Amino acid sequence: MNKGRLFILSGPSGSGKDTVLKQLLSENPQLKLSVSCVTRAMRPGEHPDEKYHFISREQFETMLAEDAFLEHNIYVGNYYGTPRKPVEEWMATGNDVLLEIDVNGAMAVKQKMPEAITIFIMPPSFQVLRSRLAGRGTETEQQMQARLNTAVKEIAQAQFYDYIVVNDRLENAVADLEAIIRANALLKNYMIHLIDEVKQDAESCYREIDQCL
Ligand code: 5GP
Repeated sequence: MNKGRLFILSGPSGSGKDTVLKQLLSENPQLKLSVSCVTRAMRPGEHPDEKYHFISREQFETMLAEDAFLEHNIYVGNYYGTPRKPVEEWMATGNDVLLEIDVNGAMAVKQKMPEAITIFIMPPSFQVLRSRLAGRGTETEQQMQARLNTAVKEIAQAQFYDYIVVNDRLENAVADLEAIIRANALLKNYMIHLIDEVKQDAESCYREIDQCL
């Protein structure tokens, strides 16, 4: 059995990546989404253990000391981390896994696992990103400014990703992600077993023909 592949998605706050991801997962239930641990407060509309495990700083630091994270980062004053165990188990059993993490986390994972595929979700423009963030109304003015500053820095890092998906229209962005996932499943590294099978078939076919002659 082939090992599952790891897809890392990043994009600034307001890029619409959550909506894109939700749609992608609903259309592709075979994909596994890593649930991060976070120390920030739960926002209205969020549910525990869906996208995040909401934990205290003390719990996070205990997990850090136990080396329980594949990567972690501090983002706008809060800890965010990817629990290592589920990702490793899913991949070992052949499942493709998605991480939705920030730029620093993405680069840290890519260093440890160069075969991971990195995808940056880009807003169609900075104006759109700003108005999406403001429209959300879940942050204070100060938090929003911090997120906008972080967004500018993140966009500058997009050049280090393998793929850029522009989130202009939801269905286009989802189709682009599906195309990336599909194309990667066809990489020769994942097809070695198929090449071997066809070669073996060909060899046994030739043996049968030889015997008949
Ligand atoms: P938010 O607070 O808006 O849900 O997420 C803030 C940022 O943290 C986003 O860029 C999101 O992708 C990132 N993030 C979410 N989970 C993780 C994680 O486990 N590790 C890292 N490094 N970033 C994460």
